[in-house]
Amino acid sequence: MVVGDIATGTDVLVIGGGPGGYVAAIRGGQLGLDVTLVEADAYGGTCLNEGCIPSKALIHVTGLAHEAEHAEAMGLYARADIDVQGMTEWKDGVVDRLTSGVEKLCKANGVNLIEGRAEFVDEHTARVVHGGEGQGSESIEFEHAVVATGSRPIELPGFGFDGDRICDSSDVLSLDSVPESVLVVGGGYIGMELSTMLAKLGSNVTVVEMLDDVLPAYGDDIARAVRSRAEDLGVEFSFGEAATGWTETAAAARVATETEDGETSEYTAERVLVAVGRRPASDTCNVEAVGLSPNDAGVLETDAATRTDVEHVHAVGDVAGEPMLAHKAYREGHVAAEVIAGEPARLDQRAIPSAVFTDPEIGSVGLDAEGAAAEGFDPVVGEMPMRASGRALTLGGGEGFVRLVADADTEFVLGARIVAPHAAELIAEVGLAIEMGARLEDVAATVHTHPTLSEAVAEAAANARNAAVHTLNR
Ligand code: FAD
Ligand code: NAD
Repeated sequence: MVVGDIATGTDVLVIGGGPGGYVAAIRGGQLGLDVTLVEADAYGGTCLNEGCIPSKALIHVTGLAHEAEHAEAMGLYARADIDVQGMTEWKDGVVDRLTSGVEKLCKANGVNLIEGRAEFVDEHTARVVHGGEGQGSESIEFEHAVVATGSRPIELPGFGFDGDRICDSSDVLSLDSVPESVLVVGGGYIGMELSTMLAKLGSNVTVVEMLDDVLPAYGDDIARAVRSRAEDLGVEFSFGEAATGWTETAAAARVATETEDGETSEYTAERVLVAVGRRPASDTCNVEAVGLSPNDAGVLETDAATRTDVEHVHAVGDVAGEPMLAHKAYREGHVAAEVIAGEPARLDQRAIPSAVFTDPEIGSVGLDAEGAAAEGFDPVVGEMPMRASGRALTLGGGEGFVRLVADADTEFVLGARIVAPHAAELIAEVGLAIEMGARLEDVAATVHTHPTLSEAVAEAAANARNAAVHTLNR
């Protein structure tokens, strides 16, 4: 212990108060464990402060404005002027409500909250340095630890984030004016969600992506749907190019790119958003002192019980690797707390959904047809185009599909890909079907409210059985 430290003890030390950490802490408190949660910055972590929530708030406002301004076909003529300051204040208000909610829920569940940066000292001791000069530090002895330190954006060589020309997603989510032009490096989750949002806000957006299409984790037709809609919004794309460096010009950045064959190009933009992935923040709490070594990707590897190689240390959320999604962090937080409390909790990665909040929205869970075949299933695919969905048409939509995959022999639902309005919500039904071991007939015969988008999930299940009524069968 350092002289001057206050010394305390706890059953469970949770490092990091994002979705992984605060869920582990609250669940631990509910199970009667003595839990201490240490957060260095803001409760709610990336998700609430600079990720999921602020991005979805801005995507909603810009989507609303764009929809209102493009509804002439419905007989609606409107002009929507976005007051960036008003939009930002509203978004910040949403964030504040949620982050203060996290703090209250932790306290209500008996979690001891400490603000400061935690670092392991040895296998059962950590030290917390409180923020600010002269704030002191304390030493905490723990039985179990949960590392939930999250991730941070990857910096491309030569593209140090300065919050001005070279921005990460947090910078873009807190802009106080609309940039005239933005170059987005990376056409993944962040690149596509934020370029759609920026285009609707009125920026001229160009996306430079190293691969040959956007959203490499999704199928070709899904990537095409998102890309062509973005093109309709005025977003320009350059594929097969990697950003190599930049120089400052008059009030702009000039970014150089290069293809694999050595062909170079240049782009000039007021701001550059670099969104080329995130790296686990496994270097913030001296994990080596507790006996852990992150792998080459910075991941703290875990088993299905969220245990690291060190029996009494768990890792959850982004620091424990892909998929780096808030709901995966939540689930791991639950499992960590329950395992520490002696319950037989385990992770089931197959039913973890993902969603991209682009226009159109994308939802995905479980296996696609190729993945199912690779795992030895004989896949059967059912599809319902959204142009045959009454509800989609009444919403002014009609683009996209629900594509459901099941095993032909047993009819067990294996996965789905959805491109539709509110796809992120619709995918939950398929996640539940997988989790419950539902068969196509269960989904098809469930009476869905009419007219709703969710009817398309049931129709896709019926289509897989050649029994769809609102679309032609296969
Ligand atoms: P984090 O939320 O990063 O929290 C980690 C916390 O640990 C931080 O608060 C940090 O301050 C703290 N910390 C780190 N080191 C220490 C230390 N030594 N001591 C004390 N505290 C420490 N996911 C989705 O599922 N849906 C989305 O729509 C979505 N949108 C996103 C949009 C953007 C722009 C970004 C950047 C991410 C988005 N994500 C989304 C991903 C999601 O935010 C993360 O997967 C999630 O926040 C991970 O939770 P976590 O608890 O692992 O880490
Ligand atoms: P990403 O992995 O989704 O996409 C990064 C993209 O950058 C890839 O397409 C990659 O090919 C490209 N790239 C890499 N290096 C490049 C270079 N030098 N030049 C040009 N292109 C390059 O990463 P992201 O968009 O930064 O998002 C990070 C993570 O945050 C996501 O993986 C996801 O886990 C999480 N996230 C989730 C959501 C959501 O759930 N809706 C939203 C935003 C972020």
